Amino acid sequence: AAKRAGGGCFTVYESAMSGDASEQLVLQQALRRAIELGELALFYQPKIRANGAAVHGLEALLRWHHPERGLVSPAVFVPLAERFGLIGTIGHWVLEAACAQLAQWQAQGHACRVAINLSPHQLRQTDLPERIAQALQRHGLQPSSLVCEITETAMMENLGPERGVLDAIAALGVYVSIDDFGTGYSSLAHLRNIPARQLKIDRSFVADLEQDADARAVLGSIVQLAHALRMEVVAEGVETAAQRRLLARMGCDLLQGYLIARPMPAEAVLPWITAFEQGVRAARADEVPSV
Ligand code: C2E
Ligand code: MG
Ligand code: MG
Ligand code: MG
Repeated sequence: AAKRAGGGCFTVYESAMSGDASEQLVLQQALRRAIELGELALFYQPKIRANGAAVHGLEALLRWHHPERGLVSPAVFVPLAERFGLIGTIGHWVLEAACAQLAQWQAQGHACRVAINLSPHQLRQTDLPERIAQALQRHGLQPSSLVCEITETAMMENLGPERGVLDAIAALGVYVSIDDFGTGYSSLAHLRNIPARQLKIDRSFVADLEQDADARAVLGSIVQLAHALRMEVVAEGVETAAQRRLLARMGCDLLQGYLIARPMPAEAVLPWITAFEQGVRAARADEVPSV
């Protein structure tokens, strides 16, 4: 049965995940055609400065508008795309779509960044750095305005022979970000060998923050370590005002989560940014002491 998940998504295909062969074939063909048929879309979720003063950038999150089954979550179809050998094609589509969108927003005067997510399989594609470089050039983008989010687990797997792909992406000047940090089993010592400039603390720590002193202790240490290694810290999954206050006080640089905004279609982004900036100006006006 379809289940409601984050960002207005329905997770379906659980039967396909569990292995029915004919269902798998149907799904594989559907996913293959999704790109040609224009069923894939990127939603965007803002990351803001923890002091609330500015929008820092947007994370592109993939959506599949299935004609019969509705909006399918990437948590479901990205693993399937990997298994079917389709993640390369889908990844190229994401890169192209995100760069085109970013160029459009920048042309409209918004100095924002866009982050894309890369799966472990994509890090094994040795032509990925070249493709990223070409996409940046084609759209006239500064490398540092593109962020590549890669999970901690995928990074650790790539410390071996495939490590070159990650280094080459970073060498382009693209911002590398460690996603879902704290859920993997990495040795903290490896952190200094990763060419990342941003670290995203997994939302499980954020969720436990208010009730759990241990979660606060771990989060505080991660923030300090990341800062000592000159990395910017993002807290993901911020859902309450209390979490937001705690995270800002603990030194997180950027915040992302439903409290700030849910992932939204591209056309909703500029109106959202405008409203956010009006809110910032109104808050500043309030601070002016009355005479
Ligand atoms: P992620 O990169 O860690 O993205 C964060 C996920 O948490 C997103 O789910 C987002 O909608 C959700 N989220 C954001 N704020 C909150 C919050 O306050 N509370 C809760 N409960 N959830 C929140 P989504 O969009 O379903 O994406 C799931 C995962 O799929 C992503 O995790 C990422 O690993 C993967 N993914 C998404 N887009 C792509 C893509 O273009 N390519 C690849 N390879 N993977 C992607
Ligand atoms: Mg991410
Ligand atoms: Mg994440
Ligand atoms: Mg995640």
